Amino acid sequence: MDVPFLSLHDVNARLADELKAAAARVIDSGWYILGEELAGFEREFAAWCGTRHAVGTGNGLDALCLVLRAWREMGALVEGDEVIVPANTFIASFLAITENGLRPVPVEPDPLTFNIDPARVEAAIGPRTRVIMPVHLYGQLADMDALAEIAGRRGLLLLEDAAQAHGAIRHGKRAGSFGHAAAFSFFPTKNLGALGDGGAVVTDDERLAACVSALRNYGSEVKYHHPMRGINSRLDEIQAAMLRVKLRYLDADTARRRAIAAQYRDGIAHPGIVLPHVRNEEAHVWHLFVIRSPWRDALQRYLRTLGVQTQVHYPVPPHQQAAYPELADLALPITDRLHAEVLSLPMSPTLTDAQVQRVIAACRSFAEAA
Ligand SMILES: *Cc1c(COP(=O)(O)O)cnc(C)c1O
Repeated sequence: MDVPFLSLHDVNARLADELKAAAARVIDSGWYILGEELAGFEREFAAWCGTRHAVGTGNGLDALCLVLRAWREMGALVEGDEVIVPANTFIASFLAITENGLRPVPVEPDPLTFNIDPARVEAAIGPRTRVIMPVHLYGQLADMDALAEIAGRRGLLLLEDAAQAHGAIRHGKRAGSFGHAAAFSFFPTKNLGALGDGGAVVTDDERLAACVSALRNYGSEVKYHHPMRGINSRLDEIQAAMLRVKLRYLDADTARRRAIAAQYRDGIAHPGIVLPHVRNEEAHVWHLFVIRSPWRDALQRYLRTLGVQTQVHYPVPPHQQAAYPELADLALPITDRLHAEVLSLPMSPTLTDAQVQRVIAACRSFAEAA
């Protein structure tokens, strides 16, 4: 039997009875959109993140889009303004920027942590820069002390893409509570995953929360009255009910992820493999366990022959995507190298110690010359 990269079946089977009861509750209620389950989840998730507000959305991309869109409605951004974004991220971070008529300014990461390099952020700030959008990549908080200091001093908005980092902690604060706003995804593979699409915006800013809340619902606060041109992107009642169940188990799941990461970090000693660098244990929730190797493709093929499933996050950086020909000429050598070297090992709270040890043994037996 293979060691699965991530078995969503196993993740949700543990909670099947509670999930089915919650789904039955919604089915029987006769109310499926913008109801009690969503209001309850928004209250519980905001409290868990340590923010005043949470607003559920249809997915994580829309959560990011709607924050930028709301800042446009509120007059904080105009078309052509620049958003500083990590060069090495999932395409959604870029799509949210360009969807709003804004310009992405990709900035290279610290190759040790994979997260945006604050010194390079400072250097990238220009007269049109309005927003810094760090991504807590692979579950590790970006350097929010440095980024908040820069944003404060330069008068910039700070938007966390927290899609991979539910519950990562620094100075007692959780991901999503460091910036002016944050976007979460509840895509099924995320640390807090729905059984379908879902997302949320969290913020302490009451006006922003109200604006996002209206924009996700046709730009309407009062039914059939539309002061803004909104979209339809709501977190539906069934998914909110699923997430309320799963939120109660998230801290325990994170603890298990940390224990698995500790085993990997203790066990995988190999001259051809660079282990992930951790600045602070609490600040990482191990959405992914990402190693680097100059022999990445050979290593991935080798692990495959031993029944160890792996993935690459991500094979092509946003600036090299056909969707962004205008970014193709940017020189981003650290990002380019990372995309050629990164490999994600199996990571899930349901992995057994025996499976983790199989992955470790498989890595250790890799002969890079082969
Ligand atoms: C998953 C993800 C998103 C988008 O979330 P969806 O719910 O899939 O739309 C955005 N940013 C990052 C970094 C992600 O990993």
